[in-house]
Amino acid sequence: MSIRTSVVWDYAPAPESADHVRLRDRYGLFIDGDFRDPVAGTYEPTINPATEEPIAEVAYAGPDDVSAAVEAAYAAQPKWGALPGLERGKYLYRIARLIQERARELAVVETIDGGKPLRESRDVDIPLAASHFFHYAGWADKLRYGVNAREVAPLGVVGQIVPWNFPLLMAAWKLAPALACGNVAILKPAETTPLTALLLAEICQEAELPPGVVSILTGNGDTGSALVRSNKIKKIAFTGSTAVGREIQAALAGTDVRLTLELGGKSANIVFEDAALDQAVEGIVNGIFFNQGHVCCAGSRLLIQESVRDEVIAKLWQRMRRLRVGDPLDKNTDVGAINSAEQLSRIEALVVAGEEEGATRQSIECELPERGYWFAPTLFTDVSPAHRIAVEEIFGPVVSVLTFRTQAEAIEKANNSRYGLAAGIWTDKGAKAFEVASALQAGVVWQNTYNHFDPTAAFGGYKESGFGREGGPAGLRPYLEVVR
Ligand code: NDP
Repeated sequence: MSIRTSVVWDYAPAPESADHVRLRDRYGLFIDGDFRDPVAGTYEPTINPATEEPIAEVAYAGPDDVSAAVEAAYAAQPKWGALPGLERGKYLYRIARLIQERARELAVVETIDGGKPLRESRDVDIPLAASHFFHYAGWADKLRYGVNAREVAPLGVVGQIVPWNFPLLMAAWKLAPALACGNVAILKPAETTPLTALLLAEICQEAELPPGVVSILTGNGDTGSALVRSNKIKKIAFTGSTAVGREIQAALAGTDVRLTLELGGKSANIVFEDAALDQAVEGIVNGIFFNQGHVCCAGSRLLIQESVRDEVIAKLWQRMRRLRVGDPLDKNTDVGAINSAEQLSRIEALVVAGEEEGATRQSIECELPERGYWFAPTLFTDVSPAHRIAVEEIFGPVVSVLTFRTQAEAIEKANNSRYGLAAGIWTDKGAKAFEVASALQAGVVWQNTYNHFDPTAAFGGYKESGFGREGGPAGLRPYLEVVR
């Protein structure tokens, strides 16, 4: 006899309209307040990872373009740096409001260019990008109070290189504090997700930001590499892989160029037996499947106390099976497209390694679209701490489960990583949460929540996850010279 609770309710498609989006066919480089052709004339298409269709052509900046941007920025900096903080703040407020005004368009473009579900770009990426500009607009005339009331000065021209997982949000994380502090910035977006940064360039024009204060150089890794090695750059801020971060650090060794690195992670999400397990399961899902797991602080190592292991895994699997994978523009989609073919093959290679090393794989059954790059949410159990899937950053919708018996063992296992970006603790006991949090080598520790971001809070890593902090007053320090 069929019972009512066994009925499977289908969702009707709920696609967000993209009709209001007016993208150009081709975008030049944003230098000295205007879009211009690259010197070598190279343009490449940026594609939609959910359909493999080209969206627009984007310029590739070569060394001559990088030099032109640096010169324009260098010329613009003295005037911008000399503006009263209150005036600089007004420009940042304007940018923040324009992001809010164009939020719907920015969300759709972020989703078609990067593959993330619209629900996330609409509810997380774009509002947070605006909040970062609002937050640092407020700091622009109070800089010295962020640095123990010392006298401060801007650094000059800063180069900023961002990845593809949160394109506009990372641009905001980097640009807002740099500009508030009186620096001028050259931003290099990732090759696969340049579009929202280019819309941000339009917003800078609309806000009448003085030419040269923000430049956007689209291109590839070589563009980033040329930016790092440019004369007249006073600071590089990089978010991306540990391998490239290491290369940048080597290139700048022995120079007076300041550097902050926000690199990879293999963050532990620790579930104690006294946790509210249903709430923890929601946090585990948000921790690893948010943005297809393309999150540097993703809770990709799930540490469960042995006494509740079976119960948590059963609940997690039941929840995972309800995740909706597919069209990122559909408002019901939980897990969208993988950002690129390269990223998909990296995920696949690590998942195969997990199976070969003896872990047990379960991937949810779901109908994946024929075109585009997709990976079904995956759970690995029987994982040993030495397995590659427990050590390396997968950067995809794949969670590896490990277990522990005691609090001390949980801490030891969580810290047993070359990374140290973030961690999650699920427990009903406040004292335990504080004790564990202070023993974890992680820049951010969430308690009974995960992937919670706020512009007022500092973010950054330990160990090979990088150094320097972004967000809040701590995020001002890397962009300021303390004069006395
Ligand atoms: P990268 O580190 O290569 O890319 C990050 C940014 O650096 C991009 O803008 C990229 O440009 C640029 N870049 C690439 N090479 C250089 C260089 N030599 N000098 C200066 N800038 C450079 O990350 P990938 O996109 O290759 O991803 C690889 C892996 O890195 C992922 O699988 C994931 O594990 C990890 N990753 C971690 C991130 C994090 O936030 N922690 C973010 C992204 C990736 P372009 O895109 O044009 O090549």
